[in-house]
Amino acid sequence: MRLIDSHCHVHFNAYREDMDDVIKRTLDHGVFMITVGTQKDTSAHGLKVAERYKGMWATVGLHPNHTVEQEFWDNDELPPEEQATPKIKTRTEKFDMDYYRELAKHPKCVGIGEFGLDYYRIPESADRAEVIRRQEETVRAQFDLATETSKPIVIHCRDAYPQQAVMIREAIGAGKLARRGVIHCFTGTLEEAQAFVDLGFYISFSGILTFAKNLQEVARALPLERLLVETDSPYLTPAPDRGKRNEPWRVEYVAKKLAELKGVTIDQVANHTYENTKTIFQLVI
Ligand SMILES: [Zn+2]
Ligand SMILES: [Zn+2]
Repeated sequence: MRLIDSHCHVHFNAYREDMDDVIKRTLDHGVFMITVGTQKDTSAHGLKVAERYKGMWATVGLHPNHTVEQEFWDNDELPPEEQATPKIKTRTEKFDMDYYRELAKHPKCVGIGEFGLDYYRIPESADRAEVIRRQEETVRAQFDLATETSKPIVIHCRDAYPQQAVMIREAIGAGKLARRGVIHCFTGTLEEAQAFVDLGFYISFSGILTFAKNLQEVARALPLERLLVETDSPYLTPAPDRGKRNEPWRVEYVAKKLAELKGVTIDQVANHTYENTKTIFQLVI
């Protein structure tokens, strides 16, 4: 069986003690992985790690949670010298096109992201309209980078699927995003998923699929030809290991659940999602 974890953060600080062991353990399971950047330093670092492994690639981009200052649990991401407990303010970043353009030239860079609209984690103290305006501006800039570099996009979206679909539709209408992309860690409705599929996008399911009943119904209805699997490690550990730090090899659990929902073998799910991931990111294997 061959699987690709289409979205993890195995280069994050949560693995500072044992990153190489975790990567080797994952590769030993026959699982390849794409490790995803969220801001300048995690984007640069992901490429550095991917450089060292066959079966590993990276993406570069600016996550919406890093476009506005807010307090949340960010310790897994930060370098040790900047850690604080229990909560810290996120580092905010304005999207620096030149910086990311340089990173995108790296041979292991296979996509732009994760970025997108996140209406869920807007701090109550913030000016909501202003935060959304800044998120939209950051999304458009990364649409442009993906178009210019001819790479697919990795969309992170929470509580804003219709608005996100409108932005993508507009960009495609303007001749952008030729390589399309993936909606990562999808948690919306079937109708919302279908809108992205109709735009030529893939839908990626995380470990949430192992326990969220509504989402299981959505997965059942979507064609395997448009699906990817991921862990979003170190987050979102699937059942039955919920509560532990996640690792990319657990993408097997997501594939197993998807097979069960679809009434097919895990090998069929593995083959489809492997080919889909390879196609969308043009992975050279
Ligand atoms: Zn995300
Ligand atoms: Zn992520």
